[in-house]
Amino acid sequence: MKVQENINRNVLNDALNVMKSYRFRNLIDSKEDILNSGIYSEEEYYDFIFTLYDEDKLKYSLFNFLKNKEIASIKDLKEFSKEFNHDLKKILSLSYLLKYENLIEIKKNENTSELEFNIKNKDFIKVKPIYEPVKVIFDSKICSGCGICQGICPVDCIKIDNGVGIIDDEKCISCGLCYTVCPRSYLPIDILNIYISNSNKFKNQSDIGEYLEAYSAKTKVDEISKICQDGGIASSILHYLFDTQQIDGAIGAGMSETIWKPTPLLIKNKDDIKKTSGTKYANNPNLQLLNQHIDCENLAVVGTPCMMQALLKSHIYNFKTPNIEKVKFRIGIFCMESFPYESILEIVKRLSVEINDIKKMDINKGKFFIYPKNGEPKNIPIKEITSLAREDCEYCYDLTSESADISIGSIGSPAGWSTVLVRTKVGKEIFKGLVDKNYIEWKDLQDVQPGLNLLLKIAKMKRKNCTEHINKVKMEKEHIPQYY
Ligand code: SF4
Ligand code: SF4
Ligand code: SF4
Repeated sequence: MKVQENINRNVLNDALNVMKSYRFRNLIDSKEDILNSGIYSEEEYYDFIFTLYDEDKLKYSLFNFLKNKEIASIKDLKEFSKEFNHDLKKILSLSYLLKYENLIEIKKNENTSELEFNIKNKDFIKVKPIYEPVKVIFDSKICSGCGICQGICPVDCIKIDNGVGIIDDEKCISCGLCYTVCPRSYLPIDILNIYISNSNKFKNQSDIGEYLEAYSAKTKVDEISKICQDGGIASSILHYLFDTQQIDGAIGAGMSETIWKPTPLLIKNKDDIKKTSGTKYANNPNLQLLNQHIDCENLAVVGTPCMMQALLKSHIYNFKTPNIEKVKFRIGIFCMESFPYESILEIVKRLSVEINDIKKMDINKGKFFIYPKNGEPKNIPIKEITSLAREDCEYCYDLTSESADISIGSIGSPAGWSTVLVRTKVGKEIFKGLVDKNYIEWKDLQDVQPGLNLLLKIAKMKRKNCTEHINKVKMEKEHIPQYY
């Protein structure tokens, strides 16, 4: 094809910069290893590479644009977004990436409170790349156990089990993709929020994130109400999405052969939904399944806040791996903390119950409850077992799955009902579908007890504990999550 004569020198420079980037070269040089791992077809590999190339090129164009300004403002970024024909949200997300790469600074002007973007390092080639294998996350004990690093690894060299991750160094091609999508490497919370609220403006952060509507709801589907733990809303959503053929698969947590040890589960139909019922408190890396050949076109993922963050982050930074692209619905559940499987066994032992004799576990009113198949429920105050929870969860600020399309949990609703936070247009359509097609009954959250106030109180407490923990370990650890 004839090369256009008016190709801009800057655009060519940006393209060359992408080609020089360590991550990009690794992915090109390792094409054979990647194809041999069987996760990508050749066409999918090229799709992925070209999308990454476009993303990186846009990022370097932004860098060069900022280099030519002494101090850039949001107005300048708007000008850039117009010139390059991209949404301002996209440009803001790339500016945060440049910040994490230590190339620019983003600060609030003390007088105007407006954000300012300044170049920090003019020669990006000399700046150490931040993209490394997630071994640093595992070693620093800050891993949430979400599983997306395993889910994105193009050569399948990460294994996560029971919250512990291992990388096969022989196979690793050091592409850093795992680090890029990890919610515990860097996480631009402000950017996640503007994507959730579909706005271009930063807002003051609420303790339960951005949401459009808040309800208390309960399933009307008979087969769900017989087995569900609270209101059965996550299962009802999956039923509805399967019935209306909006999905042909979903990812959630099932029970492994080891009793009360969860395992990631690919849900292929409504019958499979039963296998996910009941809350499990042991850590489970659902998103690791994204690394398998999944014979579905449209997926829903049911998972914890850290999983929702990982999925939204992948979406914002446009990682078009074959399976991440298929995720159309993020259904988040509330999560206070999770436990290693051994801790679950310890709690069960302290309550003198046989693990095989448990029909349900629950956290309610500050207590961990175990319901035996025979006999009365037993409980232990949460404060007595907090030391058994995963240390890694202490870095978690998010109670309510703030990065989901729709979030569900028991806090705030009466027994037998679930609190539902509708966050995005996608979430709104789901809730409307559930109501219109008679899958659920519902009330405004403000009309029930204990209601929104309790949810806000507990969410605030989780965020405060997280901030205190991060401040405490800041001086001791080489790696802590970069959240802001
Ligand atoms: S472990 Fe991470 S850096 Fe290594 S190949 Fe997999 S994704 Fe790339
Ligand atoms: S937080 Fe998730 S992506 Fe990051 S290392 Fe842990 S399992 Fe992997
Ligand atoms: S507390 Fe946070 S990090 Fe831990 S499992 Fe729940 S969402 Fe993930």
